[in-house]
Amino acid sequence: MSDIKHHLTDALLMSYAAGTLDEGFSLVVATHVSLCDECRARLEAFEAVGGVMVDECDEVALADDALDATFALIDTLPAEQAAPRVAAKNNVFPLPLQDYVGGDLDNVRWRAVGGGVMQAVLKTKGPGKVRLLSIPGGTAMPDHGHRGLELTMVLKGAFEDEDGYFGRGDVEVANEDLHHTPVAVAGEDCICLAATDAPLRFKGLVPRIAQPFLGI
Ligand code: ZN
Ligand code: ZN
Repeated sequence: MSDIKHHLTDALLMSYAAGTLDEGFSLVVATHVSLCDECRARLEAFEAVGGVMVDECDEVALADDALDATFALIDTLPAEQAAPRVAAKNNVFPLPLQDYVGGDLDNVRWRAVGGGVMQAVLKTKGPGKVRLLSIPGGTAMPDHGHRGLELTMVLKGAFEDEDGYFGRGDVEVANEDLHHTPVAVAGEDCICLAATDAPLRFKGLVPRIAQPFLGI
């Protein structure tokens, strides 16, 4: 039984199943699903529905090379589109994330961004950004709003904000409607995976000045 209380939305799981989600968000979905039986079951249901829809389409005559072309296309798909795998027990990072980092927590190349907070931006295609954040226990992140979607998944430690308590495996889905001040819960560093598709909207002057340099 997992302790995960904050899950992915159906809309995110459906987009992931359809392969239309941007790479950073896909990484968060794959990472969450690898720890969460509930979302994995929902994802499998959406994938099954997608399969039925393909099966029920009217038959059309295919070109002779259609099958070869399809397999060739599958070969070109990036690795992150592969089915989520189940994580090993003692690792902090589930397998989909390990593929990006090239290992576990020890392999992250952190960069200090002030206040004891460290980040590591992961390489992805597309306009969105995905990063690992390490926030010392008891530290507040600058309060901010969102111009688009922000997914934050806790990997270690916990944080609290206006929406509740987020521990390992929990995902916060934040959009334009949410303005929040996440605070890492005292006791241990909070390590999260955060993906955004647009720059955040900071309230304070100092984070606003730092924003272009941090790329958040
Ligand atoms: Zn879930
Ligand atoms: Zn946020």
